[in-house]
Amino acid sequence: MVKKERAFLEKITILGAYGTKGSHQETSSFLINDTHVIDAGNLLRSLDEDAAHIDTIWLTHSHLDHIVDIAYILDSYFALRTKPLKLMGLPSTLESIQKHFLNDYIWPDFSKIPLSNENGMTVVYESIELGKEYKLDETTSIEAMQTVHTVASCGYIIRKNKSAVLVTADTYKNPLLCETIKKYPEITALVLECSFPSSMGALALESLHLTPSLAEEEIACINRPIKLYINHLKPTFIEEIKKEIYSTPTLKDAIILDDGDTIYF
Ligand SMILES: [Zn+2]
Ligand SMILES: [Zn+2]
Repeated sequence: MVKKERAFLEKITILGAYGTKGSHQETSSFLINDTHVIDAGNLLRSLDEDAAHIDTIWLTHSHLDHIVDIAYILDSYFALRTKPLKLMGLPSTLESIQKHFLNDYIWPDFSKIPLSNENGMTVVYESIELGKEYKLDETTSIEAMQTVHTVASCGYIIRKNKSAVLVTADTYKNPLLCETIKKYPEITALVLECSFPSSMGALALESLHLTPSLAEEEIACINRPIKLYINHLKPTFIEEIKKEIYSTPTLKDAIILDDGDTIYF
């Protein structure tokens, strides 16, 4: 019998794939459609002037590798921006950004600066609810899933037409991962973080990240074929983590993401 290849029609682009900046590695960002992204670790270099058209950033959490380019797309493209930049996130994430980042000390508070065309303020904050589906365009929606990290954090289920991808973002082991995959049969792909090699399990626990051996435990409960992508490697350990993943039977078919890669689902 000829095995029928599943046609993965839907896609998103990873603009920054790593858990910190390296000489050739950029930090977390996903392009969902022309105007919506998840996280802002790398918007300028990846999108160039198109970054001026991003109007909504869905934040997973407040760590710098996920928010840094909010500062620069506001500053560099201020004159090109015609609509407020919406920062969507958990209430505590938005509060951290307002209090500790766009606070007039580290960077200007753009929520008090009007757009040059007077079409409102440059930044608006909008809190999201976990488990609520938000429509982005005709075919695309997004829903936040709580994750396990050192600050309030969430991953996202991105649905396009009839299939979906679950992006975990930064997390330690999370019982909700399997529950969510079981609940939503439309999820055909998973982007799982893997920050450290397994030899650094203590640091992974301390900083609430995954290693290949934790990732293996994490996906053990998935009982249907799901395309596995891995991101958020710390650049210092790329070779060690890759070697480990490729020699682990349950992980060896995973695709380790690089900046600019496409995720199909
Ligand atoms: Zn991170
Ligand atoms: Zn983090």
